[in-house]
Parts: sequence; C-alpha cells; structure tokens
Amino acid sequence: MMKTCIVFGGTKGIGASIANCFFNHQYNVAVFSRHQENVTTFLNNYKRKGTKTPRTYGQPQLVGFACDITNADAVQEVLGAVQKQLGPVHTLVNAAGINRDALLVQTKHDDVMAQINTNLVGTIHTCKVVVRSMMRNKQGCIINIGSVVGSTGNAGQCIYSATKAGLVGFSKSLAREVGPRGIRVNVIAPGFIKTDMTRNTVTEPLEKIIPLRRFGKTEEVAEAALFLASTEYITGEVLYVDGGLHTAF
Ligand code: NDP
Repeated sequence: MMKTCIVFGGTKGIGASIANCFFNHQYNVAVFSRHQENVTTFLNNYKRKGTKTPRTYGQPQLVGFACDITNADAVQEVLGAVQKQLGPVHTLVNAAGINRDALLVQTKHDDVMAQINTNLVGTIHTCKVVVRSMMRNKQGCIINIGSVVGSTGNAGQCIYSATKAGLVGFSKSLAREVGPRGIRVNVIAPGFIKTDMTRNTVTEPLEKIIPLRRFGKTEEVAEAALFLASTEYITGEVLYVDGGLHTAF
C-alpha cells in the first residue's frame, strides 16, 4: 500500500522541498499552509512541470489545503478529511514556522504568542490528531523541524529559540510515550538555509562561522527527512542539518 506523508508548512521553503522529495519517492503527499494562494502556487508548479495532480489510480497523489496550524479544530477537521482521501498517515512533518526576530525587551506580546502558537502549540495539535491513527496502525513517523538555535540560542531570537528548544523536549517525551506502539518521533535541526524566512538574515559573513563554509539547501533538509522516514530504529533524536554549525558554539 502507498504510504502517505503530510507536511504542515509544505507550500514553501524547507517544507515544500520535503513534500517534493516524498512525492518523488512514491508517497501520497498532502501539504498545508495558511494561505490558499501558496497552496495553489505549490500545486500549479507541479502541473507546470507536467505532473498531473492528483495522478491516476495506482500513482501517488499530491493534494493541498489551506489550514492554519494554530487552529486546533481546523487541524483536526482537515486531517480527518485527508486521511479519508489518502489513507492513514505514515509520516507527519511539522515544518510550519515563523520568526519575529527582536531583542527580548523590544518583543511585542503578540509576537511572543504568534511564535509559540505556530512553532510549538501548532505542532502539538497536529501530533495529537495524527498519533491516534498511527497508534491504530501500530506504525508511524513524526518529524518536527526544530532549529540549531534551539540548542545554541541566538541573540535576537529568544522566543523563536525557546519554541525550537520546546520542540525537542516535546518530541523526546512523545517518542517515549508512543515508541511501544511502533511510532517514531524525531527532530531535524537545520542551520542556515536560504528561504523566504531567512532572506534578510542569511548574509555572506555568516558563512564563515559554518564549518562547511556554506549555507544549506532545502533539498538537503528533505534528504534527512526521507532518511528518518525510511529508517526504523531511530527515535527521540535530534538530527542537525547545519554544516556543523552546532559544533562551533
Ligand atoms: P518559509 O517561511 O519559507 O516557509 C514556512 C511555511 O510555513 C510556509 O509554507 C508557510 O505558508 C507555513 N506557515 C507559516 N505559518 C503557518 C501556520 N500558522 N499554519 C500553517 N502553515 C504555516 O520558512 P522555512 O522553509 O525557512 O522554514 C520551515 C521550518 O524550518 C520552520 O519551522 C523554521 O522555523 C525552520 N527552520 C528554518 C531555517 C532556515 O534557515 N530557513 C533554519 C532552522 C529552522 P503560509 O504563509 O501560507 O502559511
């Protein structure tokens, strides 16, 4: 039976590369993000490349829906509908994330809550829904996208770093809860990857502090996600995809 992968934040950047990668490896893929235009653009890019969506019977399907990960009811509803269409989720990827970089003393309360609700609470919502069906199937893989700053910290990113550190504690705890049911939970911690999120912050001088002396590619994070989905004895792990950046602190 064809496996299904769900990618929250799958319409752009790292999430979009993960969705592409899994689809190209014969997974049914569903992508979600807040803005319908991003969902449509993502799916249209596939059509332009000559790929029909959804593909014909027996081929993997690629679908997308607008859904805000911070809305627990919407997450539950859309995941129920997608699982009816594509079958039970094998791999859940939580890549939806935002940053509101500022020194703590200048951070507005709304920006604190927006980052916590998207990066941490949103992931808790999706995991809670998907784990139920994974437990019924006695298998599943959850990949939460953290960040190197979740362990190193970064000035100007107190709240963002806290959400990413929180994801590690959450994922390790969940890995212990659901491991006996055959479900694995891991974190990928990217370093500097060029995407819309980092367009203004990932600048030339930063490359000098990365041991591999270059920024990462979204496709390199996707390769790590596919590896975690394919392997069967790794859980509760944090996999850095950062050119060695975490070792430099
Ligand atoms: P992008 O800004 O390129 O993409 C973020 C994606 O998340 C978009 O698809 C966006 O779509 C979606 N999204 C944002 N908020 C929500 C929400 N509330 N509900 C549903 N979807 C949402 O970011 P990146 O690809 O760079 O980042 C992906 C993940 O990787 C994030 O968790 C980020 O923190 C993490 N990361 C990124 C690094 C980097 O260097 N780029 C480094 C370390 C970690 P829409 O706007 O339509 O909602």
